[in-house]
Amino acid sequence: MSQLDHLNRTSASLTGDKTPPRFKVFMARHLDGLDVLKRLPEETVFEMKVVASVLPFRVNEYVINHLIDWDAVPNDPIYQLTFPQRGMLSEEAFERMAALHRADAPRDEIQRLAQELRADLNPHPAGQMELNMPRDEDGDVLDGMQHKYNETVLFFPSQGQTCHAFCTFCFRWAQFVGQQELRMASTEAGALHGYLESRKEVSDLLVTGGDPMVMKTAKLAGYLEPLLSERFEHVQTIRIGTKALTYWPHRFVFDDDADDMLRLFDTLVEEGKHVSVMAHFNHWRELESPVTREAIRRIRDTGAQIRAQGPLLAHINDDASVWARMWETQVKLGVVPYYMFVERDTGARHYFEVPLERAWHIYRDAIQQVSGLARTVRGPSMSAGPGKVEVQGVTEIAGEKVFALRFLQGRNADWVHRPFYAKYDPKATWLDHLKPAFGESRFFFEEEYATMQNPRLA
Ligand SMILES: *Cc1c(COP(=O)(O)O)cnc(C)c1O
Ligand code: SF4
Repeated sequence: MSQLDHLNRTSASLTGDKTPPRFKVFMARHLDGLDVLKRLPEETVFEMKVVASVLPFRVNEYVINHLIDWDAVPNDPIYQLTFPQRGMLSEEAFERMAALHRADAPRDEIQRLAQELRADLNPHPAGQMELNMPRDEDGDVLDGMQHKYNETVLFFPSQGQTCHAFCTFCFRWAQFVGQQELRMASTEAGALHGYLESRKEVSDLLVTGGDPMVMKTAKLAGYLEPLLSERFEHVQTIRIGTKALTYWPHRFVFDDDADDMLRLFDTLVEEGKHVSVMAHFNHWRELESPVTREAIRRIRDTGAQIRAQGPLLAHINDDASVWARMWETQVKLGVVPYYMFVERDTGARHYFEVPLERAWHIYRDAIQQVSGLARTVRGPSMSAGPGKVEVQGVTEIAGEKVFALRFLQGRNADWVHRPFYAKYDPKATWLDHLKPAFGESRFFFEEEYATMQNPRLA
């Protein structure tokens, strides 16, 4: 506990005499009453309501008052990150929904159209559901877990299936609008522990959500503390995926059980686990908040690591200097840059997507500006069905212009780091837009992947 003696020294200097802010959340039905929106054109607020009836919207007072620069709206990246924009729906979808709102249509009619429109937005990308579900010895599916890559099990505790605010581009949007019968949340510590115990190849547990940091510390401790027993010696690393360092850094500083959370990290580390907070950041602006910096400092004091990852997004961060500055700031704060993702093929992807070639240019331009300590970040990477595929670059081989690609993670570990090539296509934004180069008919992994999806083909 030695490092934690000064846990409390900071609270006063961050708040002055004021009491720390309380968490206050706003959703679609609050859009009309939000004071801060009164400065925007009425039409803009109407557009927000239309979009928010299809895609999830949730933001909190801290984000509104401390992160968004309202003088920079609509271009402010944090505003784009959290507030619905007209372009997030297709023109046709927008007009249909707008007509219902203009006519003051009843709720169930709006709901019905919303469901229809959502179905067109690829709510279940990358075959997440069926293919990754672990089973117990009896072959029954274990809820709330995914096991896609040998060494890492994902766990979705049911109390962590929301976030302190929602990102407008989130690939998990379908679960937040509550229409997915999601067999993805679990309340069962027993099932998690049983599965981990039976799988000695698993070195990493990744607790994810939503955002597991919306959970009370005691809940999280119930899942994690048992892992200190000898039965789980093979589970060396506990990762926690979170955006709380942006949306509610108070979770680690002022919340009633903030100190308990840090003590939990401290205990796990002391007992020999590697604890890694997988922090989601999209812009260096998120790292400027004094509460965020204090939260980072406190987490690092426990011996836990913080690694940073996030997608590349039009309207938010499609600019090399934004990434370079973000990675430099992360290194300065002791946060390790980890992944740059390609925006996934779901939800409002048409608003946010960046062609793969441009994504690679941005990555490369940014990498060139930073020291080797920030070049730990890999990408741009697509989390697709067969695995995480990195765009290594555009090049010319034997007179053909191609994309050079490789798996950073593969459904079959043997695929990892095997170079492969796709025909150059300046418009491609996702793996399924790419065709094999050099006149080949299939990528090297495709046949095996098809068999995995449908074992009867074997
Ligand atoms: C990204 C990811 C992981 C972790 O992969 P690392 O490369 O080890 O960070 C695990 N499971 C799934 C399903 C993932 O998408
Ligand atoms: S914090 Fe993560 S899970 Fe939550 S809305 Fe944002 S991207 Fe999605």
